[in-house]
Amino acid sequence: MTLRFYNTLSNKKEAFKPLKGGVVTIYNCGPTVWNYAHIGNLRAYIFADILRRYLEYRGFRVKQVMNITDVGHMTVDEETEGRGEDKIEMKARKEKKDPWEISRFYEKAFFEDIAKLSIKKAMVYPKATKHIKEMIKTIRRLIKKGYAYEANGSVYYDITRFKDYGRLSGNTIEKLKAGKRIEVLPEKRNWFDFALWKKDPKHIMQWDSPWGRGFPGWHIECSVMSMKYLGDTLDIHTGGEDNIFPHHECEIAQAEGATGKRFVRYWMHTRHLLVNGEKMSKSKGNFYTIRDLLKKGYDPKAIRYLLLSGHYRIRLNFTEKGLKSAEETVKRLQDFVSSLRGIKVRKGRNPNIKKLVQKVKKGFEEAMDDDLNVPLALGKVFDFVREMNKAVSEGIGKGDAKLAYETMLKFDTVLGLELGKVKLAVGEKIKIKDSIFTIHWQGIKPNPEVEKLIKKRGERRKEKSWKEADKVRDKVKEMGYILEDMENGVRVKKA
Ligand SMILES: [Zn+2]
Repeated sequence: MTLRFYNTLSNKKEAFKPLKGGVVTIYNCGPTVWNYAHIGNLRAYIFADILRRYLEYRGFRVKQVMNITDVGHMTVDEETEGRGEDKIEMKARKEKKDPWEISRFYEKAFFEDIAKLSIKKAMVYPKATKHIKEMIKTIRRLIKKGYAYEANGSVYYDITRFKDYGRLSGNTIEKLKAGKRIEVLPEKRNWFDFALWKKDPKHIMQWDSPWGRGFPGWHIECSVMSMKYLGDTLDIHTGGEDNIFPHHECEIAQAEGATGKRFVRYWMHTRHLLVNGEKMSKSKGNFYTIRDLLKKGYDPKAIRYLLLSGHYRIRLNFTEKGLKSAEETVKRLQDFVSSLRGIKVRKGRNPNIKKLVQKVKKGFEEAMDDDLNVPLALGKVFDFVREMNKAVSEGIGKGDAKLAYETMLKFDTVLGLELGKVKLAVGEKIKIKDSIFTIHWQGIKPNPEVEKLIKKRGERRKEKSWKEADKVRDKVKEMGYILEDMENGVRVKKA
């Protein structure tokens, strides 16, 4: 099957092929470092991570860039809501700190958060304040080409000069003209023109430019930094659905205005996250950062699982109940993978295992190829776990277990749940006829009666009295426990 992604630009699924052979270039709209990332932001970054991981699974080399916005992102959109305040400077004012201190602090927090969620690091995380020169250069280019104009020390993009404006979001020039006007700065040609460079003496972070002291707009940062690291045309650009307009619409106008080339080939956007069925907001008390959840004792892998388990183009409803069940699910996967490790039941092979592995691989890949249908892919994995557990109880060979184990780890290169790193429960060592034997009590308290039977069974097995040994195992089963044989040991689980 061919790999297909839903492209916001065409509103349909398209076959995906990178521009240059086996290399895929991806730009993700990253954090504005004025606060802790909330789980809605993190869902978008986890999506970006899954996208990158699956492309790598498919054998592509991925060049991934994510920006760090540390200046110019306003509290409200200028084109649709009027003038706001720089988010970082607002926070600095509230906390009586300087804006540089704020952005340094939250940038560090951002990297800590994504590490907790096992999000792979991008190739580079360019910072807006480190690319002022490049931005000025692009703005000059846009002025020269007639797309932008200087007015009173600020520079604006004249949207009416860019024919394709509105192609991504549907907010065409005609629609904007007919829409509600917002507070007009008299210096603008059209009320909906957006700022590339802003003059504001009250702004703390300022740089020299050909138009005087000022600071860059948020949109120009992403156009400039993405093209600097990935070239004029990117394969994929991601962001949250709220980035589509005006942010991404403006990015296209800037980049294509400056280069005359197509800017992005595939636009991919994640839908919003709901919490308890509602839009997340601090006033409703349903606002979570990952730190809040970790403080409550939740496993970061479960948070990751919950955030990746829904399809990225469907709103995901986050609840703590869902998080608890995600914890159980992750545990089930971990248990399964660690039970495969070290299985040594009988020599020989179970002919069904190879077929099961082929089936789950096909199912997983078909689901992921179809616009990263993670929930469907996970469903296939759980079918496999169920079927394998059945096979394990019937007896499989060590080679079979290894094949299944490696398959799960391969899937985990995409899911990122670090299933291979899970340790077995600490084992209790007993002696069976001069050799050391380990009993792993998996999530249950040691039971002396079961232990006695395990010892007895071990002795029967050493004597090669297989039938007798099986009888003992059946007796243990009647008591409500399952024994899974491992190398020099056994794992005990509740039936
Ligand atoms: Zn952006």
